[in-house]
Amino acid sequence: MNILITGGAGFIGSNLTEYFLEKGYEVVCLDNFATGHRHNIALFLEHPKYRLIEGDIRNLSDCQKAVEGIDYVLHQAALGSVPRSINDPITTNEVNVSGFLNMLTASRDAKVKRFVYAASSSTYGDSQGLPKVEEVIGKPLSPYAITKYVNELYADIFSKAYGIETIGLRYFNVFGRRQDPKGAYAAVIPKFVMQLMQYESPMINGDGLHSRDFTYIDNVIQMNELAMTTTNPEAVNTVYNTAFGDRTTLTQLVGLLKEYLALFDPKIAEVEVLHGPNRAGDIPHSLASIEKAKQLLGYAPKYAIQEGLQQAVAWYFSNLDK
Ligand code: NAD
Repeated sequence: MNILITGGAGFIGSNLTEYFLEKGYEVVCLDNFATGHRHNIALFLEHPKYRLIEGDIRNLSDCQKAVEGIDYVLHQAALGSVPRSINDPITTNEVNVSGFLNMLTASRDAKVKRFVYAASSSTYGDSQGLPKVEEVIGKPLSPYAITKYVNELYADIFSKAYGIETIGLRYFNVFGRRQDPKGAYAAVIPKFVMQLMQYESPMINGDGLHSRDFTYIDNVIQMNELAMTTTNPEAVNTVYNTAFGDRTTLTQLVGLLKEYLALFDPKIAEVEVLHGPNRAGDIPHSLASIEKAKQLLGYAPKYAIQEGLQQAVAWYFSNLDK
């Protein structure tokens, strides 16, 4: 079986690549290295079942080339980050909406068996209820959230109009090995890990009581595999929360990080935490119901935040230059 992983040089895409190569699949990666890194794929370049296509999902011809002979698409390529989309909504839209539509169209034309794509918990927008259930969403709070919701709308219409099977995975704050700690738009966990390792004070936006359903990468890999391989006809052409199903406040998160990092370097326990203003586009709380994924896909997440963070911290300690 051949899998195309778009965004395969990024955090989630490179982890999916590693997993599916180990399982014996042929993996093609399409990436333009906008936010992905060559060091993320260095491991795979010599692998006989791996092929890299350097290209841009904004070019339909790159997408068409990438889907040739492909059975399954795991579409991860996008520009992430709410603040990036607020600073530059046009580029975010070009990649996340036009690029998505190119990939979906190319996949339809190549008659791929299934198109599984990275959706986002940001689609819940201003809806207040917790836990979040797939059928109840609010108004988007950022350009990024709009793009991810538009992806779901296109996937739904393509399933209905053309019969292509699609599954959207609404990822909730994913973390783990190879997530980029650097740059203005780094996610909170790798950023805090790097700062703490350098004895710099991490800055929490707001009072620290905002909470998130932090989701370890191995749970996300499990969801992608289930979405790709399910034979349950009721499980396709829909979206799933992809999360652990628990929430942790930012203050609790920093506490756990300091505790686990201090096992490697006790001085980290002394680093102070700072607080700044709330960030535009941020939702206060996020917690997923994972019942739909459990019932229709047989999802059983193995990693709570504690186990995931311990593994991630150990990885950063052996892989990040101080
Ligand atoms: P990432 O930035 O590490 O990976 C994205 C990859 O897409 C990068 O390798 C980048 O170079 C590539 N890419 C960007 N623009 C491209 C283009 N025009 N053509 C080809 N490749 C392009 O991010 P990630 O955290 O691995 O996210 C993967 C997917 O999951 C994204 O769609 C993101 O929106 C979604 N997502 C992530 C999270 C999370 O917590 N990490 C949460 C919700 C949704």
